[in-house]
Amino acid sequence: MILSKGNKLNSPVLVLNRFYMAIQIITARRAFVMLCRDAAEVIDREEGQFMNYSFEQWLELSEFQYEAGIIDDDVIKTVRFPVQIPRVIRTTHFDRVPDATVKFSRKNLFVRDKQQCQYCGKKLSFSQMSLDHVVPRSQGGGTSWDNVVCSCFPCNSRKGGRTPKEARMELMRQPEKPRQFPLLDLYQPSVVHPIWEPFIGS
Ligand SMILES: [Zn+2]
Repeated sequence: MILSKGNKLNSPVLVLNRFYMAIQIITARRAFVMLCRDAAEVIDREEGQFMNYSFEQWLELSEFQYEAGIIDDDVIKTVRFPVQIPRVIRTTHFDRVPDATVKFSRKNLFVRDKQQCQYCGKKLSFSQMSLDHVVPRSQGGGTSWDNVVCSCFPCNSRKGGRTPKEARMELMRQPEKPRQFPLLDLYQPSVVHPIWEPFIGS
């Protein structure tokens, strides 16, 4: 049914929970799957007002805009008419407020540290990243948000089993537990759709 391929379907869509809190960024492809399953609705801004649309209403709106010649090119093509890609959707099926604590994980550390080695500042790919215990485990350092940072392999091996002070290396910033939903940071500031701003802050 959906004919578009590639980029457009991988473009980002912000997901809100029932309480209009931003919880996730997903691909347009996944957003359409959720909409088709009736697990989400579209939130869009019309003349400054936020409106909620069921998927059916959203399709009707796209069809209307297409016929009226006012649809833009942020669309996916279907057999019948292009459908506007929603940039914000809201889950309708989950009552649970997502856990406010950010999971301690490799991926979230990578996001918190802005994909940078915390010693030399080098930009790292996910596979180039190693995790460094600021205070080494051998000296009683824990595996926690405030003692683990992303590091490139050269800095990590240079530092070895020493503290930054002992190794005369300086941390770019003191590690701490990130605020809620650090994944949103990945998209700042390059791909923030204006319609996201009320939901994610600046
Ligand atoms: Zn480094």
